[in-house]
Amino acid sequence: MSDAERLLAEAGAVLHGHFLLSSGLHSPTYVEKFELIQHPHVTVPICGQIADHYGDAEAQTVAGPTTGGAILAFEVARQLGLRCIIAEQSADGGREFRRGFRIEPGERVLVVDDVMTTGGSVRHTVAAVERLGGVVVGAGLLVDRSGGTAEAGTAYWAALTLDAAAYQPQECPQCAQGVPITKRGTSGTAPRRW
Ligand SMILES: [Zn+2]
Repeated sequence: MSDAERLLAEAGAVLHGHFLLSSGLHSPTYVEKFELIQHPHVTVPICGQIADHYGDAEAQTVAGPTTGGAILAFEVARQLGLRCIIAEQSADGGREFRRGFRIEPGERVLVVDDVMTTGGSVRHTVAAVERLGGVVVGAGLLVDRSGGTAEAGTAYWAALTLDAAAYQPQECPQCAQGVPITKRGTSGTAPRRW
């Protein structure tokens, strides 16, 4: 078990059940990242692993999508001595930088996010950086739960890789068995203990 995997388990961040993920996929595994991210003493060392991995990438800025990604991006930026900018959801379902955040043409940007399932959030953040003329040097993640199959729009490195099954709703075995689904994440129910 990797350090990150042990930390997630100790934090009670890996839940088992039948979950609707924010990507729209269904899964028997949910990573409640805020069980971990709310504790700086475990989150800071994981951000240190990301900062170490990209220490030679010559990034000039770190960019993270809301909400968890922005927290991790800020700590990685702090450790690397860089600026942190935050990508928010845009009306078209992508990501954009608001609040006066700017990127100079050719500026080298490291993208940081928390949990990657399909890669959509990272991919949209990469696109937002590139729209402003930035150059993405890679993406650092807390958890890649795609088992390395996500399309992130850039090369990525994760502190922890989980090969957690995720299904289109019409292909979900638990739906076929009529198991009630739990919605988690940004629009989900209040945290609940299993
Ligand atoms: Zn299902």
